[in-house]
Amino acid sequence: MTNTPDWKSKINPLVLGIQPSGIRRFFDLVAEMKGVISLGVGEPDFVTPWHIREACMYSLEKGYTMYTSNQGLLELREAIARNLAVAYGVSYNPRQEILITVGVSEGLDLAFRAILCPGDEVLIPEPSYVSYAPVTVMAGAKPVFLKTSAENGFQINAAMVEKAITPKTKALILCNPNNPTGATLDRKHLLEIAEVVRAHDLIFISDEIYGRLTYVGEHTCVSSLPGLRDRTILLNGFSKSYAMTGWRVGYAAGNQDFILAMTKIHQYTMLCAPVTAQAAALEALRNGESGMKKMVDQYNRRRHLVIQALQEIGLPCGEPRGAFYAFPDIRSTGLSSEDFAQQLLQEEKVAVVPGNAFGEQGEGFVRCSYSASINDLTEAFKRMNSFVGRKVRKGKVLTFSPGKNEIKKEDICQTM
Ligand code: PLP
Repeated sequence: MTNTPDWKSKINPLVLGIQPSGIRRFFDLVAEMKGVISLGVGEPDFVTPWHIREACMYSLEKGYTMYTSNQGLLELREAIARNLAVAYGVSYNPRQEILITVGVSEGLDLAFRAILCPGDEVLIPEPSYVSYAPVTVMAGAKPVFLKTSAENGFQINAAMVEKAITPKTKALILCNPNNPTGATLDRKHLLEIAEVVRAHDLIFISDEIYGRLTYVGEHTCVSSLPGLRDRTILLNGFSKSYAMTGWRVGYAAGNQDFILAMTKIHQYTMLCAPVTAQAAALEALRNGESGMKKMVDQYNRRRHLVIQALQEIGLPCGEPRGAFYAFPDIRSTGLSSEDFAQQLLQEEKVAVVPGNAFGEQGEGFVRCSYSASINDLTEAFKRMNSFVGRKVRKGKVLTFSPGKNEIKKEDICQTM
């Protein structure tokens, strides 16, 4: 009789130690249920605008089906450089300082693998986007969490950063606007944090994927802060602002040493980002501004609805100022975030993400994505009201009046 081989023992312990994403685990469950309104997924409900899809088809007609240069189409890198210069006044040489990646996801992996050595520490604000800690660990380094809370608006500050720094600290990562809280950091606070980053010679990894989805105040690009351009790896992409999640295209901008190191890993692992997606991204940058603004405007209308609905339901929630997430406090229900999400799903068929999927500091909160239609949001919050009513108080009638400002989706993204 032969023993079953212990395949697990052959797996890299770093990988064995990583938990699968809490979001995915939850949504495998949702996929098996009918009639669920999902406020769970972190992606636009819009289809990529037609002119972008058309540009992609045209590129195929013209026969653009080959590899591009490892760094990506030069035209696209030039368009990104122009865009960063115009929007934030920061200039990058498209030949040496910009790399086209397979989404910000790949950019994160490349950045971490390019700069981290075993034992290095990375400062990660918590709650945080689900991939920061695993990617740090897979690069052999150690995540050190900067614990934010609702009481401080889920904001990090210079003192917190300073306090967490050790001789092993190599980098700080920041997602601004934040996933999952929707919080934004203003220029004044960023300047103070930048001062600490400079003083301790750290690298700033700035995930600005939600930068254009800022509804209150102005988005500050970290690289545009005094003295930060060269110590920042700026990551951005097309997934959220242009409704292009499935295309898998993003970019990294930074000093040429960082970009060259990242390009080396990219060239041996990805070779290049898909050419068709790059052609689409180029069209998005050239002609996608007005379509993007319409989508942002629509998210903002929904955001107002969500703020009002949560207030009426009685779930405290800091004002979400960016991205498309609200992060209400559900502690008054006496449920853990996991139980709240499970029971809301089973009893009312509304899916939200338990806050602990984003780290310990997310416990007691749930993430509600408002990249859903106003009708769906209205129905979802009515159901959530009944649910919370059953848990903590007699249900009350909601008065928020959605719907009147709805712009038809077809007016934003032509489907044909
Ligand atoms: N960074 C943050 C903060 C995100 O929320 C996401 C996706 O949800 C990503 C990166 C991944 O983006 P991409 O689709 O460009 O890989």
